[in-house]
Amino acid sequence: MELSGKAAVVTGSSRGIGRAIALRLASEGASVVVNYNRNRDAAGQVVEQARSCGVEAVAVEADISSAAGAEAVVRAALDSFGRLDILVNNAGITRDMLLLRLSEEDWDAVLTTNLKSAYMTSRLATRHMLRNRWGRIVNISSVVGLMGNSGQANYAAAKAGLIGLTKSIAREFGGKGITANAIAPGYIETDIVAELPQNIKEALLTQIPAGRYGRPEEVADVVAFLASDRAAYINGQTLNVDGGLVMS
Ligand code: NDP
Repeated sequence: MELSGKAAVVTGSSRGIGRAIALRLASEGASVVVNYNRNRDAAGQVVEQARSCGVEAVAVEADISSAAGAEAVVRAALDSFGRLDILVNNAGITRDMLLLRLSEEDWDAVLTTNLKSAYMTSRLATRHMLRNRWGRIVNISSVVGLMGNSGQANYAAAKAGLIGLTKSIAREFGGKGITANAIAPGYIETDIVAELPQNIKEALLTQIPAGRYGRPEEVADVVAFLASDRAAYINGQTLNVDGGLVMS
């Protein structure tokens, strides 16, 4: 149990990768704030499962794209657990469209939910991490933030922005026991991938050296490592968890 006594916030943890991250951190002994936007029942089930690991867990309904939502998740950790050690900025959406038809509304929705949210939560969380001179921020970016993708200018910009945000936090807080790292998942089996047309899914598989999609738990394992003391000397990095899809 590497994270006993720690408290974590995982944004967007009712489903998919966030759910796996919340449960993995709980299995290592961390108390968790399970944040959701719409799926209350799903979040409740994650809380129950986390508690069965013997840790405290609370579900918090909050739209993380708003300042009030960011405040609510950080406040929940402090009110429920009295501390905040680990922040995982995972919540994300897509609004795919080719640039010529990409509306300002869809640009703003993706940038606000996927990037501005992480700025807001990180700014609030680091205040508390500084007191303990220990903290871990893990931002869930994407290979699309590294490669770009046709039809995903908004998503790629947000995910690339997360990497810049991560490096800046790493530089500002690196001397104070706080690390910030990003993970760039490839194609992971969640609702986001399930919604892709079958022909696109088959075409994507041919590009992945591993020959399969990733599992949410495979991303969660890397988060648990980055959140542990074993990763104290890893800071400002982006780890690809993508079956070899992107190689630099
Ligand atoms: P899912 O669509 O399966 O789940 C998204 C989660 O984010 C849900 O828990 C959802 O809550 C929550 N969420 C969405 N909008 C908000 C909001 N405004 N406020 C709070 N919570 C919100 O996504 P994935 O698990 O697939 O993706 C998780 C992260 O990983 C995202 O950032 C995504 O971009 C990234 N990623 C995913 C990849 C993949 O292949 N799946 C690849 C690379 C990156 P609710 O259930 O209430 O709607």
